[in-house]
Order: sequence, then structure tokens, then C-alpha cells
Amino acid sequence: MPSTRSVSTRFARTCSTLLYLLVGTVACADMPAAEAPSADETPFAEEASFADKLSLADEPWFGVMLPPGFEPHALQVISNRPAAPAVVPQGESQYRELAGASIQADLETIVGFSRESEETAEVGEGQMWGRITGFPSGSKTIQWAVNEFRAAGISDVELQQFDQNEGASIWLPLSWEVRLLGDPAFGAGSADVVLESAMPLSAGDLSGGSLTAPLVYVGTATSAELAHIDVRGKVAVQKAIPQGHTVFVRSPVGPRAQDLLDRGAVAVFTIIDLPGNMRARDIGCGGGTCFNIGGRDGRFIESVMDAAAAAGTVADIRVEMHLESQRFSGLSAANGVAIVPGTSRSDEYVVLNAHADAWFDGAGDNGDGLAILVALARHFATPGMQQERSIVFVASAGHHSSGLSGPGNFVAMNPVIAERAVLVVNLEHTAQRHITPARSLHEDGYREWTMDSHEAPIVAGITNLAPFLEGLVERGIQRYGTNFVSGPNTMASGEGGTYRRLGVPVFTTMQGPPMYHTTGEVLEMVSTPGLERMARFMAFFVKEVSQAAMAQINPTSGG
Ligand SMILES: [Zn+2]
Repeated sequence: MPSTRSVSTRFARTCSTLLYLLVGTVACADMPAAEAPSADETPFAEEASFADKLSLADEPWFGVMLPPGFEPHALQVISNRPAAPAVVPQGESQYRELAGASIQADLETIVGFSRESEETAEVGEGQMWGRITGFPSGSKTIQWAVNEFRAAGISDVELQQFDQNEGASIWLPLSWEVRLLGDPAFGAGSADVVLESAMPLSAGDLSGGSLTAPLVYVGTATSAELAHIDVRGKVAVQKAIPQGHTVFVRSPVGPRAQDLLDRGAVAVFTIIDLPGNMRARDIGCGGGTCFNIGGRDGRFIESVMDAAAAAGTVADIRVEMHLESQRFSGLSAANGVAIVPGTSRSDEYVVLNAHADAWFDGAGDNGDGLAILVALARHFATPGMQQERSIVFVASAGHHSSGLSGPGNFVAMNPVIAERAVLVVNLEHTAQRHITPARSLHEDGYREWTMDSHEAPIVAGITNLAPFLEGLVERGIQRYGTNFVSGPNTMASGEGGTYRRLGVPVFTTMQGPPMYHTTGEVLEMVSTPGLERMARFMAFFVKEVSQAAMAQINPTSGG
């Protein structure tokens, strides 16, 4: 949209000029020289004419560049260079079902179920979507996996249906709006700005109604910061900066949101400092009124509040919120289960699980895991590829919808497999590309993001830390170049946790990268060679496990 771009540029120039004047010069005066922004870190400032400076007071929103709006399937990451190709060890090139392009095609089909959920406004007005267990998008995904298992030539395939647990419900937002209220005090022409990336996490008292309140900025909302800030009656704006695995910020940020509500805030906005202007459904606040705000909307709020503080009008910045939401209960769902019988120990089972449910496009959580599962089913169903032990493929209903646990119902409905399983593999978020902050800044000052040639770090959790299994992970790095983190660990998050109850080792491969649970987790986020790397590694892993002695797989079992 060229016209938007030119308007944006004009805003950017006045923005940086204003910040330079109002904030930069004030801040720099108190700053050691080494910390003061250098000339090339304050772009455009030197270009501003005297006339520009005089007209600043008349620019809307203090001259701060308006946020770019929300694009549902866009990846705001620089990704011009390709991912490193997959390594195909000698003797494996004939496994064409494990080639990246083939798995990628299935991933596109899987993401298509999410796109349909959005296009048909499956939930409310369609502001959130996904492959939602208990809804048509969830059932279609499982049915697709079942069809693929059958098409692969597997005869023992079942769609195993179950109902939502009594008393359980899933909360979903149906429609909402978060609107910063314009005021001439912020510059002539300051109209309302709708923060389109806002994502409600829970309704609090807001459901079905609206609320208008002033904003108060609380930084990262530590106790040390809050000792100086009164949040009562206000919407507290805190900032979360995800690093490494995004899930790592859940525990500080969620409880701090709760703390802000306990201190009297009427709502909490959490700015998730990530690429673009994404909606993020993660990090709760214990049931109060909470919204996550995307990176560019967050940047706008922060810049405006900075400018308003310098101008003495910060107390006037107010927000109006609307939210309709609903709790859904009495739903039903299904797992797709396929069994490729073993050649000599067919009463012993290696279980491979991938959850089918997702928030938004969910290409990486867990479209990649599910596509790899289906590829592995084709691989082991090929004549001549049967292994000593039986292999069970579970396209799981997942764990996002309360009371509809995929693994829980699989274990309950398949007691023989549960009793005779020797190991469970959980494929969960395994081929997203690695993104990191870029050298470049967007014209509003927002730092851009870039990809590198490999996958985001993959945690490989082995619940019993068996040396044999750990050795397979190390060989996987050498044979296929899988980007496993270097610290051995017993992680079995996500679907893996439920399988712990079987008392056998659970092997979980899992990424938790920055796009996790956001609208930015689109197809382009997943590495096609990365899909192949993980599929080939996992085929290798399962073959080795299938012929190993029980004492190797589970040294402490005594078996
Ligand atoms: Zn997941």
C-alpha cells in the first residue's frame, strides 16, 4: 500500500524529530556520553528543518507514527535467505516420503484448516481462529490425518471419539475492540486509534460490556517499579520481552499481571515485544481483564506515553475496551489412531504422538509435528519398513481445549497399548526457523527481526535420561544436523506430561520460539529442510528403539 507508506514516512519524520526534541534532549542531558544516542541512531533528526519543529504541536498524537494495523497471516521477519538444506545420509535417499517438499505440502493442508476457521468466522466474529478441538476445524484436521493413515496403506486405523469432561469448559473471545481515545491535547487531529493487535486473555468483569479508563505505564511491573506507581482505577501497561523460548516469560509476566490487578488496576495490557503487530494468545493473568498487545501497537503506546509525559498530558491518555466472550462446554472431539504391526514383537508398542490443535495458523504449533507424524506413518507403512515392535501413530486432539485431552483419552481408550508401550515420542513444535533481532530499525524506531539458516533451538527431553536414548539424540545431531539444545533434560511439557503416567520413557522434541501462540506462526515460519531433518532423525530414532533391548530403553525397569 504505497499511499499508507508515504503517510507513515511523514509521521516517522515528525515522530523522531519530536522524540528527539521532547525526550532525546531531556534524556541525553542526564545520560553519560557513552549511552547517549549517536547521530546515526536518531535517524532523520538532523534532517528536520526549523519549520518542521515549529509545526510539531499540530501533528496528531504528538507526531508519533501510527501503528500499521493488523495483518492476519503476515510474517514481519526479514527472511530473504533460505534455510540450510537437509542432510540425507547414504542409503536414505530412497525415503521420498520423508523429503521436505512432501511434508511441506501436508503442512499447507493442515494450516488450511486454520485459514478456513478464520474465513468462516468459526469463533464469534473471526478475530481469533485455529484448529480448535471441539469445533469443526479441530475435527477436520483429525479426520484428514485418519484419511492419510488409511491412504498410506495402514489397515488398523480408528477415529476414537470422546466427550468433554463434565464441568469443563473452554473460554473463547467472540469479538472485541481496544481503542485509544483521541484528544486535541495530543495534537490537532488526534483521532481514536484502534489497537488491532490486542488479544484478550480473560474477560474479568468486562465480558459483554465496555470500560473506559486512563493508562498507566509500569515497565516490567517489578515490585521495585510499582513502589513508585499508583495503578488504582487505571489500565496498567506492562512490557514483556520474550527471549529464547517465549514460554520462559510466562512465569514472571503472568503473575505480575495478577499483581497489578490485585493492586487495583482495572485491566492489564501486556506489550509483547515481538516482530510486527501480532496477536498473542499466551500468558494469562488469573482471570481479570487482560489483553496482550503486539509489538508495533506497543511501540505506539510507549512512544505516545513518553511524548505525553514530556508534554505534561500523560494523565489524559485513556482507552476504551469492549469484549464479548463465551465459555463452551458439552463439546466432543476425537483422536486419530493408526497401528503398524511389528514383525517379531508386535505386542510391544512404540507410540508416536503429535497434537493437531492450534491457535491461529499454528504452522509450528503443531502443524509441523503433525505433518512429520503423517510422513512417518507413510514411511513405516511402506512394505519392507515394518519394525520389530509395533508402531502407534496418534494424531491427538491436543491440550488447548479444557476437558478434551487428546493424550488422556488415548491412554484411557487403549488400555492394551498403554500397558504394553515401551516408549512414547511426542513431536511438538519441531521445525520453526530461528528468528533473532535484526541490525535494522523500522522507520518508527521498532527493531526489525531476521531469520538465520537453521531451526530455532529444539529441546530434546528424555524423561529417564537413559544413556542409550541420549546417545541416539547425539547421533541425530551428527547424522542429520538437528538443532537440539546441548543440555540433556527430562522435559515432557505439552502432550508429553500426560504420557508420563504410563511409566515408560517419554521422548519429547519441542521448540518454544518467539512466534509461539501468535498470529505470526505462519507457513513461512517453518523450515522445509527443517521438516525433513526432524522426519529423518525421528525415523532413525524409532528404528533404533524398535530393535533395542528393554534394558537399554528403560534401564531402571528391571525388564
Ligand atoms: Zn503445542
